[in-house]
Amino acid sequence: MTMDIEYDTQPKASHYVDGAYLEDDAGEVIEVIYPATGAVIGRVHQATDGVIEKAVAAARRAQAEWAKVSPRERGRILTRAAQIMRERNRPLSVLETYDTGKPLQETLVADATSGADALEYFGGIAAGLTGEHIPLGEDWAYTMREPLGVCAGIGAWNYPTQIACWKAAPALACGNAMIFKPSETTPLCALKVAEILTEAGLPDGLFQVLQGMGPVGAALSTHPGIDKVSLTGSVPTGQKVYAAAAGELKHVTMELGGKSPMLVFNDADLDDAVGGAILGNFYSSGQICSNGTRVFVQKGLKDRFVERLQERLEGAVIGDPLDEATNFGPMVSQRQMEIVQGYLEKGVAEGARLVTGGKRLDQDGFWLTPAIFDGVTDEMTIAREEIFGPVLSVFEFETEEEGIARANDTPFGLSAGVFTRDISRAHRVIGELQAGTCFINSYNDAPVEMPFGGVKMSGVGRENAKAAIEHYSQVKSVYVRMGRVEAPF
Ligand code: NDP
Repeated sequence: MTMDIEYDTQPKASHYVDGAYLEDDAGEVIEVIYPATGAVIGRVHQATDGVIEKAVAAARRAQAEWAKVSPRERGRILTRAAQIMRERNRPLSVLETYDTGKPLQETLVADATSGADALEYFGGIAAGLTGEHIPLGEDWAYTMREPLGVCAGIGAWNYPTQIACWKAAPALACGNAMIFKPSETTPLCALKVAEILTEAGLPDGLFQVLQGMGPVGAALSTHPGIDKVSLTGSVPTGQKVYAAAAGELKHVTMELGGKSPMLVFNDADLDDAVGGAILGNFYSSGQICSNGTRVFVQKGLKDRFVERLQERLEGAVIGDPLDEATNFGPMVSQRQMEIVQGYLEKGVAEGARLVTGGKRLDQDGFWLTPAIFDGVTDEMTIAREEIFGPVLSVFEFETEEEGIARANDTPFGLSAGVFTRDISRAHRVIGELQAGTCFINSYNDAPVEMPFGGVKMSGVGRENAKAAIEHYSQVKSVYVRMGRVEAPF
């Protein structure tokens, strides 16, 4: 396999502050590694305190002005950015592939395009964000929807462009500024989002990018100049950031991990259900928060399901992510690959049957083949903990009641899916499942028009759709007395 790096992956500088690239050599070096080869394809520096202060000051200054800009004008800038992003979809997708290792076949349709959808959607609704008129007899009241101020966005490494846009678009539409810290594993793509927003006319200081590891995220989460923190990451990080933000009662959005169930009933269309399980476990090499990693299949269909799944896995084309024929890429990092290998070993040791996959490819880069475990029971480690890799576990169940109870037996609550041809059952089961984002005869669709987020330990707040507006704005109520004020003395 040859993967020549012909693309300029070294950013102009590490950070994007106040409308321009900014370098600061004093910060620790972060190497950018191409997951398909392990090659170092760029270097950035962690933001030092001085850079963080500079960004917060620029954001505060810029946000005060931005809040006064008409929402229609804000929306126009976001829409223009969406258009530029679509025009540059290919180079942005190639960069996303270098940053994450995800196959170009995927990044061409799921990353910059999804980012553009968010910019377009929130650009479109910006002008329609209004308050209410509340009649009170002679008197009346009205509400205004005001921005929160300066928001910090902290991203995971699996969708660096999409996460930056899903946070920035509603924040900016509502009149906020955003300082975004990408994961240290994928520092490249958010810088391009910043460049595009500037080009589209966004005033300086409103969308800034600071590189760094956890401590930079932690500094933002506690900074008195930050009004809101929106994190996409794991539950343990979410707990830390939520607690840190609580010190000043900052607003938060927490998009965290999951261990989501998919219930496949005997009457399901077999190939659709298998297709859903593939989309819900192996897209992005399984590194998706909402994945349906616990696949509960009803007893009458279970063996055929596993057989068909195994057959369909032969369609996985593992190889050079930049070759558009490839549909399965490497893990994002050596560390993530080792975490997944650890779970594969635990699965076997605890008695699950490894039907196929889970093999490390003998080549450079972080390659694991897609794995299916059968005969998984609810107490096994692979059934309880988020793996975040290409590992699908099949469980057998008999009754609807049992399936629902076992599906809900987890502290997580991000997503859930049901495959059945019985429409009453589909809605009944979904009604019982404890998850924020659900699918019927489908899995992992994330259109910007639909709210996305979790319940239980999987998160707080929602991204996308009109629901996101609630999390990037606050309501001011104004009582208007029309008559005289009657005081008791
Ligand atoms: P992590 O929780 O390790 O990191 C998430 C982000 O938080 C990174 O930018 C990280 O920086 C930063 N961070 C780490 N420690 C702190 C801290 N103390 N204070 C502030 N920020 C901190 O998650 P991963 O990057 O490993 O991503 C995988 C996880 O993300 C999975 O659990 C997955 O389910 C979840 N996820 C959730 C999604 C959702 O929408 N619900 C979507 C995508 C992923 P750094 O990495 O540089 O250390």
